[in-house]
Formats: sequence, C-alpha cells, structure tokens
Amino acid sequence: MSKHTPVLQAETPDAALLRRIGADGGDGRSVPDAATRETIGHAPVQSVAELDQAVARARTAQPAWEGLGHAERSRLLLAAADAVEENAEALARLLSREQGKPLNGPNARFEVGACAAWLRTAASTVLDTEVLLDDETGHAELSYRAIGVVGAIGPWNWPLMITIWQVAAALRMGNTAVVKPSEYTTLSVLALLAVLNDVLPPDVLIGVSGDRELGSRLSSHPHVGKVMFTGSTATGRRIVESSAQNLARLTLELGGNDAGIVLPSADPAAIAQDLFWGAFINTGQTCAALKRLYVHDSLYDAVVDALAAVAAAMPMGNGLDEDAVLGPLQNRAQFDIVAGLVDDARRQGARIVTGGAPASDLGELFYPVTLVADIADGTPLVDEEQFGPALPIIRYSEVDDAVRSANGLDVGLGASVWGDRDEARAVAARIQAGTVWINSHGGVHPMIPFGGVKSSGYGLEFGVEGLKSVAVPQVVNG
Ligand code: NAD
Repeated sequence: MSKHTPVLQAETPDAALLRRIGADGGDGRSVPDAATRETIGHAPVQSVAELDQAVARARTAQPAWEGLGHAERSRLLLAAADAVEENAEALARLLSREQGKPLNGPNARFEVGACAAWLRTAASTVLDTEVLLDDETGHAELSYRAIGVVGAIGPWNWPLMITIWQVAAALRMGNTAVVKPSEYTTLSVLALLAVLNDVLPPDVLIGVSGDRELGSRLSSHPHVGKVMFTGSTATGRRIVESSAQNLARLTLELGGNDAGIVLPSADPAAIAQDLFWGAFINTGQTCAALKRLYVHDSLYDAVVDALAAVAAAMPMGNGLDEDAVLGPLQNRAQFDIVAGLVDDARRQGARIVTGGAPASDLGELFYPVTLVADIADGTPLVDEEQFGPALPIIRYSEVDDAVRSANGLDVGLGASVWGDRDEARAVAARIQAGTVWINSHGGVHPMIPFGGVKSSGYGLEFGVEGLKSVAVPQVVNG
C-alpha cells in the first residue's frame, strides 16, 4: 500500500478499482479528493507516442468489431451495462471522491445508473436502412456504416455519463474508440473503461490519460474519423481548427448559459423544487443547467422566497456523506470563477439572498448555494457561464423582453419556460436553444436527441440521430 493513498487502507469497493487501473501506486500525477484535497491515487501521464499507438491499435481492431454485426455488438453492450451495474457502488464512490459529487441526490449513483441505461438504449435502438426510391425508374437505399476510429474527449463535470454518451453509440455502429478523459477526472473514467473492457474485445475501447496536448493530437490525428467533444466553447473552436487537418466529422457539445423564464401563470411553490434542481444539479456544474432565471414581476418575490426555502433544506458536504446532496466545486479554477462572479455582482449592487461567501468550514472548495436577486443583463454573473452554485434571478415585466434576453447571448444549449403549458409552448417556439423544457429544466433521455445551437456547438447525441452521428451514410443505387 502506497503512503500516498491512505484512504485505500479502508478497503472500500473503490480501492480495488483504483488498484486495478494501477492508480494506487506513487507513479503519475497525484489526484486529489475534491472534498478533502487528500491524494486518492495517481493518474498515468501518457505521451503523444502512446496516444498514437492507441489509435493504431483501435484502427487495427475496428474491422473485426464492425464485422461482428449489430446483434453481437448489441449483446456485448448489454453485457457492458450489466458490468457497470455490478461495479456500480465502486464506480460511484470513486466518482464521488474524484469529482466531488455526493453519492445521493441526482449525483454519483444516479450518474452510474445513467451509464447502464444509455448503454442499453444504444444496444437496442434500431437504425433501419431507408428505401429512397423504389419504382419503375430504379431502386436506391440509404444505410449507415461505421466511420472507423472515434476520438472521445470529455469534461470533468459528468465524466462517466458523458464518456458513455460519446462511446456507446459509436461502438454500437461498429466504430472503435479512443477516450481522452479530462485531466481532472481521469481515474473515474479509466475505472469505467476497465469495467467495460471486462466484456469488450481487446482494443475496441482504449483510454489515454493526459492533458490538452493529447486532446489536441487526438482531434487532429489522421486516423481519427470522428471526434465526439464535450467541453468548453473555447476548446471546441480549437477542435474545429484541428479538423481542418483530418477532416474528422465533429459532434460538439459546448458551453451554455441556459435561461429559464417564469411566466405570470406559474405557481411559485409548485415549481420551486424543480427550479432548484434545474439550476443546482451537480452543484451547478452542469452544461444544461438553468444559469439565469427571468421571473415576471408579479411573482418575483414569491419565486425568490420559495427558492431560498428549498435551498435552505439541501445539505452540502463531503460526497461520501450519505446525507449530502450538494458537494464542492471540482477544482480551484472553477471555484475562483464562481466566487469572482458573485463578488462582482455584489459590488454592482445586486442582492445576495442566500450564500455569497465560501463555505470554508466544509473545506477548501465548498461554495454554498447562492441566489442573487435584483440583478440585470450585462452583469457578468448573468452574461457569462458560472458553472457553479450561483443563480442570478432577473425581474421582467414583458414576456417579449424576457425572450429577447434569453436569445441575447451567443450560446443556445437549453432553456426552459415555466407556467401554463400552452402559453409556455408558444414562448418556447421563440427561443434559440437546442432543447426547451416546459416546467422542468435539464432532463435528458437516451431516446431524445440532445445538442446545442449557436456557440453551444453542433451535432446531436442520443436516439436514432445519435447513431447516425457516429456513422457515415452510404447510398446503394441500383
Ligand atoms: P475544457 O474545454 O477545458 O476541457 C474539455 C476536454 O478538452 C478536456 O479533456 C481537455 O483536456 C481537452 N482539451 C483541452 N484543450 C484541448 C485541445 N486544444 N484539443 C483537444 N482537447 C483539448 O472543458 P471543461 O472545463 O472540462 O468542461 C466545462 C465546460 O464543458 C463548460 O463550458 C460546460 O458547459 C461544458 N460542457 C458541455 C456539455 C454539453 O453537453 N454541451 C456537457 C458538459 C460540459
């Protein structure tokens, strides 16, 4: 047992996983527990040459994997889902320690459960050949073929679920995949890949551990035909530039700044809990979280009060604490962004309803749920992506103004409208976002396509559209 890994001495289920991926020794980059900042293990630091070898191995393995056919690949993906479930508690605990999210609430156990669900859906979704023409003039069909090697580059907020989103459909369609996890959440992803590789043939799914240099090489690699990228808009732009070299197809799930609009017909008490989780799921570190809330003047105070009451009842703490449903920020850089945006809003005269200063008693990177009222568009907390537990609540009196505000930024991942369903649907049709939820925010489903518009990226994941996005169309004419 390494002196660097004191937590392992407890022989928790995640300790075995860490040993299995070789992260329990002293080699590699030290990985802190997000809550306690103690070292939990060491992540390998791989070179560009090792990445190139991984791509070569995946490329060699691809034809045989494609040759297995849909039925056999689906069977293996279903077995992979079972393997995730068998290791669910170990994965959830490791995720909780490395990422920071609590085991309970819509957090670590929920995330691992979603991995199994998405694998099963990718395994069972049918993508039929389309008959385009079948008459006296001829016959033509459109079908979807594997691309080859898919590069998957992910962020640190939902590292397991997003990895599965990126690779499940890709594998189903007969591609092999090379995964480059975020340097902040490498161990959880490597552990997930180890579990999946219990049932998958060798080299179908390979993880490489390293920083942006490896991501950059993966996205520009001449033998990568598709890049699934989830992360910031700034990195997404670099990946688009890289794709000029290899002409890789891209799916870009980028940053967001989702608006929610509460109409006069809404019932503040009835929506408060769902508004809260729409904004604060994963302690606000969620791409399609509610990041700015526009509330009609007639119920502004009631909504602020109802949200504050919900916030007061939600325990924050170390992720392994079974009572906690909110955790720390994952890393110092994100903590500083959130704290800085709140401090700036306060200086500009906004009202801090609850929170507003680090929860240092809980640990270094804990910041409490913070509701910021009497704030306007143009304030950085409204206009920039906070990606953390601070929600600006903006007052409006004309729905047209709220719609204009919602559309006023250059991102468009999600949005939500709250109130009478018919009224809300009419407003939704005017909003520029990949998904507009009615009376909820941020829920995703493995059969419902998900993706952004504007600077939130392009391409769709999930469902039949998700399978098409990791395939190349082929027409057979004649
Ligand atoms: P990030 O862009 O900093 O990093 C994401 C990944 O890209 C990491 O693995 C990183 O190593 C890699 N990378 C960095 N530079 C690279 C380069 N030049 N070429 C290739 N890869 C490179 O993002 P992050 O901070 O990890 O994640 C937070 C952001 O992700 C937020 O903006 C959030 O909104 C967004 N996000 C979006 C979605 C979505 O579905 N749209 C989901 C989750 C997170």
